[in-house]
Amino acid sequence: MRIVDLRSDTVTLPTREMRDAMYKAEVGDDVYREDPTVTALEELGADLLGKEAGLFVTSGTMGNQLAAMAHTKKSDEIICESESHIYCYEVAGLACLSGAQSRPLAGDRGILTAGRIRGAIRPGGDVHIPDTGLICLENTHNRAGGTCYPLAELEAIRAVADEYRIPVHMDGARIFNAAVAQGVSAGEIARHADSVQFCLSKGLAAPVGSLLVGSRDFVETARRYRKMLGGGLRQAGILAAAGIVALTGMVDRLAEDHANARTLGEALANLDYCIDLGTVQTNLVIFDVAPLGLTAAAFVERLAASGVKAGASGEYRVRLVTHYGIERSDIDYVAGVLARLKPPC
Ligand SMILES: *Cc1c(COP(=O)(O)O)cnc(C)c1O
Repeated sequence: MRIVDLRSDTVTLPTREMRDAMYKAEVGDDVYREDPTVTALEELGADLLGKEAGLFVTSGTMGNQLAAMAHTKKSDEIICESESHIYCYEVAGLACLSGAQSRPLAGDRGILTAGRIRGAIRPGGDVHIPDTGLICLENTHNRAGGTCYPLAELEAIRAVADEYRIPVHMDGARIFNAAVAQGVSAGEIARHADSVQFCLSKGLAAPVGSLLVGSRDFVETARRYRKMLGGGLRQAGILAAAGIVALTGMVDRLAEDHANARTLGEALANLDYCIDLGTVQTNLVIFDVAPLGLTAAAFVERLAASGVKAGASGEYRVRLVTHYGIERSDIDYVAGVLARLKPPC
């Protein structure tokens, strides 16, 4: 049976070029800062995002948590989106590692506005009240279905952050998807944030790792915390080599993933599945199976019986993710399977 794995873009396998680069990578002990390949990747990532410095970290979660640790102090409050990864899926890391309290705000399709953020900023100077220490934005927004921040909104949020002198961290796990979808450079998006975390191991197909970028001082603080958490790696150039290929060779092709996601979303809409096509802006497709009288888990099981691997994003929401390795013919196959499971309506 044909297997089409649309559970996540993390299932992508390294390319041949990555394997070659890994084999040939010049390496050293990166805790001594003697791994030239790690250093090259960190500089490349910082350059692409228009920041002073970068830090290679094991995962997106580590990058986000280090950012919060470096930006905030114990007892601060962190503004985030109520369905964001940093709030929902990082094991209460903000509370445990930063000693900070989260202030989740509901966004529109995951997107927060400057006005909503302004209204949540704490006044300061009152002995009872936490200080707002950080604003976190997720771009693209995972649970909302891969939605992008409009650049004008980022600019407005930046203005509010500057007014109150609050740093902005962007969880840009898929920032390159946003950049490709919006037809701008990642730097144009990142310039509105003080720090950005982005994943090499999702649609960009590297086997391991994320980068955290920001000012030189910020990155040096994050580097110390990375060591504290056990993230000081030795000959990590083996991994960083794949990351360099990811950034130099795998960004532009994300457009194919977006076109495939669009095709899949339109197929679902044409079949009268419950889907908000407005959320299908990048490589994620989320639809609601509650109208079918099924849970996401039950629907995922039916898809699996036809070789289509999908994920659940909540009790009734099924998630399909397009990525490197998924071809147009796979999408046509999945559309055929979805037609067979077509809802009565
Ligand atoms: C995947 C993801 C992360 C975490 O990345 P890991 O490498 O899995 O820890 C963080 N934020 C968002 C939005 C993600 O999609």
